[in-house]
Amino acid sequence: MSDDYIRLIPSDKQWQPKPEAAEAATSYVAQLFSGPQDDVEEVEAEFYDQVTLIDAGENTTKISCLNCGGDIAVDWFFDLIEEKGEAFGNLDFEVPCCGAVVALDSLRYDWPVGFARFEICAMNPTRAKYELDSAELAEVARLLQHPVTQILAHY
Ligand SMILES: [Zn+2]
Repeated sequence: MSDDYIRLIPSDKQWQPKPEAAEAATSYVAQLFSGPQDDVEEVEAEFYDQVTLIDAGENTTKISCLNCGGDIAVDWFFDLIEEKGEAFGNLDFEVPCCGAVVALDSLRYDWPVGFARFEICAMNPTRAKYELDSAELAEVARLLQHPVTQILAHY
């Protein structure tokens, strides 16, 4: 059994909303998915002490380095997560392709991942469209009082 998630994060990786704003935005997202079938399993807001990887699970299959243009094995990335955990704080790491120290959020991922200290996560969302459209994202941003990005994850 696999799970899909929509993970909504502030565009600034250090930024955190006020609790009331987080609650308002979370309720809004929850009502987007409330339907006759009660489709979504849960919508949760999460605050993180440190900058945390908002990964896309199996959706990420290719990573490339903007310093040398080379490919980085996805395994390297997942091993790093295993070693460090998902709370990174500092995102600078030496990459295997060219040995440069680069920030993980400067790498290019074939399927976007994010880094954040806050997220709103919807588990197993089922709608006509899987992801939020631009108007819905704008509404989440308005409630949160910060621009948001969505990461679509599959595990
Ligand atoms: Zn490189």
